[in-house]
Amino acid sequence: MAKQTPMMRQYLEIKSQYPDAILFFRLGDFYEMFLDDAVIAAKVLDIALTSRNKGAEEQIPLCGIPYHSAQPYLSRLVAAGHKVAICEQVEDPRMAKGIVRREVVRLVTPGTVLEPELLSADRNSYLLAISCSARQRYGLASLDLSTGQFRVTSAQHPEEVRRELLAIEARELLVAEGERATLVTRLALAPEQVASLATLPDGVFTAEEGAARLNACYGTSDLTVFGCADDEAAIAAAGAVLYYVEQTQKGQAAHLRPLTCYQIQDSMVLDEATRRNLELTQTLSGAQRKGSLLGALDRTLTAMGGRLLRQWLLRPLLDCQAIDARLDFIAQAIDQPRQRQQLRELLRTINDLERLLSRISMGSASARDLVALRNSCQPLPPLRQLCGELAGVLAARLHQQIDPLEDMAGLLARALADEPPAGLRDGGLIRDGYDQPLDELRQISRDGKGFIARLERQERERSGIASLKVRYNRVFGYYIDVPKTQLAKVPVDYQRKQTLANSERYFTPELKDYEDRVLGAEEAIAEREYQLFEELRQQIGAARQRIQATAEGLAALDVLLALADVAHERNYCRPRLHEGARLEIIAGRHPVVELLTGSDPFVSNDVLLDTDSHQLLMVTGPNMAGKSTFMRQVALITLMAQMGSFVPAQQAEIGLVDRIFTRVGASDNLARGQSTFMVEMSETAYILNHATPRSLILLDEIGRGTSTFDGISIAWAVAEYLHDNPQLAAKTLFATHYHELTDLSRTRKGIENFNIAVRQWQDQIVFLRTIVPGPASHSYGIQVAQLAGLPQPVIRRAKEILANLERGEYSDEGLPLLAQSQKSDRKTSAAPVDPLRQRLRQLDINRMTPLEALSCIHELCQLL
Ligand code: ADP
Repeated sequence: MAKQTPMMRQYLEIKSQYPDAILFFRLGDFYEMFLDDAVIAAKVLDIALTSRNKGAEEQIPLCGIPYHSAQPYLSRLVAAGHKVAICEQVEDPRMAKGIVRREVVRLVTPGTVLEPELLSADRNSYLLAISCSARQRYGLASLDLSTGQFRVTSAQHPEEVRRELLAIEARELLVAEGERATLVTRLALAPEQVASLATLPDGVFTAEEGAARLNACYGTSDLTVFGCADDEAAIAAAGAVLYYVEQTQKGQAAHLRPLTCYQIQDSMVLDEATRRNLELTQTLSGAQRKGSLLGALDRTLTAMGGRLLRQWLLRPLLDCQAIDARLDFIAQAIDQPRQRQQLRELLRTINDLERLLSRISMGSASARDLVALRNSCQPLPPLRQLCGELAGVLAARLHQQIDPLEDMAGLLARALADEPPAGLRDGGLIRDGYDQPLDELRQISRDGKGFIARLERQERERSGIASLKVRYNRVFGYYIDVPKTQLAKVPVDYQRKQTLANSERYFTPELKDYEDRVLGAEEAIAEREYQLFEELRQQIGAARQRIQATAEGLAALDVLLALADVAHERNYCRPRLHEGARLEIIAGRHPVVELLTGSDPFVSNDVLLDTDSHQLLMVTGPNMAGKSTFMRQVALITLMAQMGSFVPAQQAEIGLVDRIFTRVGASDNLARGQSTFMVEMSETAYILNHATPRSLILLDEIGRGTSTFDGISIAWAVAEYLHDNPQLAAKTLFATHYHELTDLSRTRKGIENFNIAVRQWQDQIVFLRTIVPGPASHSYGIQVAQLAGLPQPVIRRAKEILANLERGEYSDEGLPLLAQSQKSDRKTSAAPVDPLRQRLRQLDINRMTPLEALSCIHELCQLL
């Protein structure tokens, strides 16, 4: 350090406080990065890496970006997973004695970004702290800084925490330094989760510190108002989140919504496999939103609604009353198409109030943000009135929650210019007539403009120089321009300002005085406007709670109307929910596949599941018949019903389901170093260990990843276990191509066989897509292979082998036999002769003496 320049010393000192962030070090008009930061940033940003002390022994890598266009660079670094500490000059360089004072004013991290370009409008962006209390209870606190949503919960089992981590989809995880390693192992965090971990000092994660921070943040004296006063783990986690916000925002966060405390058990549990397999928010192949359930249902018109729909979909409800409230609203909205359309037209004009408000509270909102707020206020009074016209609990609640914000709209209309500029420093923000001192300053400035024309006329007359001009430029200010040819006529009181090739420029005391006044006024105008704008921003920030409540109400309204719109257009029905076990769907359809079937209409199907005679449905049928589609549609209809949506069916009766489990197809966990079979088995184990009689289980092709006999045995045992175990007895759909399993229904009351009907016509098969009772008669594998375009010789040969196999001519050592058959002449389709069998058939055991038998065994052994 001793050898460094004072500036470098300052740099290194600040950098030492932010070792894991890239330091943007403000130097004049640039943010500079040094040393390792420079090397990383140059690569990520694709900018030139140079060095300080060029040629000297110790070179310092360096790269820089202009501060006024830093935003895209900052975004790129954060998007690449880096943190960025922004270090500004915090005193005027002209006033500084020695080196300018610099401080980090904000630490930008993936979980605390507010920049619109780093946030996606349809998703929340959560920061999540995980604590682990002395009693081994886990606390989880999640905050979306861009909307102010702040929630806590706690859980006893690592498994619950894992599921909740999935539901929250946090962009950054906070853990205590001392617990990092334990939590990574115990919660089996995925590599991308580990990569998003930030560690904080252990002391931050205590309930005492947490309570103190929460009370300071909300101005409360104890935490009973939040309903989590006794939940130490949750409070510790919430405290850690607040600590991190203080650290990163440097005291700029005042817009948090009241802390909500929730129970993980309050909503249906959807684990990772289920979310993936049911393609809830993205498709299995290609990870596209289009083709997912969310993609099919998302008719929301506001960003807030889009985010809420995603939350509803990932957290279906377990409370019939709450579900019915949503369904009542949707039913009404369907029955009143005029109101629905009107409401949706109004919603269309509303901007992202939650995020606007965040920027307003954090002091980063521009005048254009306030214009967006002003525009969004306009539709509120009619919107609220229309809500008032609808009946039901939810409509009443929304009517109450949506504030018409007329005072805000009025204030913004009076104060804010029609089309203010993006910058805040150059005026043009505030409307005439809003502020008297501002109007007076503007009058001076305007008068000044008339003054120039007057002065020009006056000076032309006085000097007799017709081509004389009075002009302004930024460097020299106001001047009188006289062409070289007219210099002789210049009055004596003109003072020279600048000489050009063809003219001279002058000023007079009168012009100088004017310049002082006008420039002074313009500066004062910009200053006054900025000040007024700040006041305006604060005034609006003070109405935060009303705006937040309104935003929340609008989001719910948007989701409900979107669901009504979809339900109306696609002819969905209202499901009937109850606390019983019975799940019956008449003429159900798959909400996504039915949109994609093109010319073939989607074939609807019925299903009945209960805990009695229809507990486990064994579904057989050829590949491509529609088994997976059928099973998934049952799960999706259940899930949609519990999120409070109408469902694609003629009728649906849904006994509340606490969890949906799925074990479907191959999974992509190979990246985590597990083989396909291991993944299949661990997912199955997970289901058997966690299902309850209220769960719904989909098992597709269990045992496929191993040899046939192993596979059948495992599938068989799993089905028995699910049926026989009274603690389990979950409603199960079991698709398999092992026909042996269809025998289970003979001995087990709750197991029923179903198959997907197929018609064989000559050598072709036609899929009927209808589910019918009974086991499938055939697997039609070769016909399906034919449909898929396998070459004819292969198909022919496969049929031959199948015929051999079906004649029972295979043993455990079937392969040598097949090899033999391959060697045999293809034209003779006679089965190959097996000498061992032939000899055995010739034996007459009843007539043999023991000695003959022994020698016969010896002879048979020779034949092996
Ligand atoms: P399986 O699981 O039996 O192999 P899938 O469920 O994957 O079959 O279905 C194969 C294809 O058949 C689907 O991609 C879909 O296009 C079509 N399909 C399935 N069910 C239906 C149905 N009920 N109506 C119309 N088409 C269907």
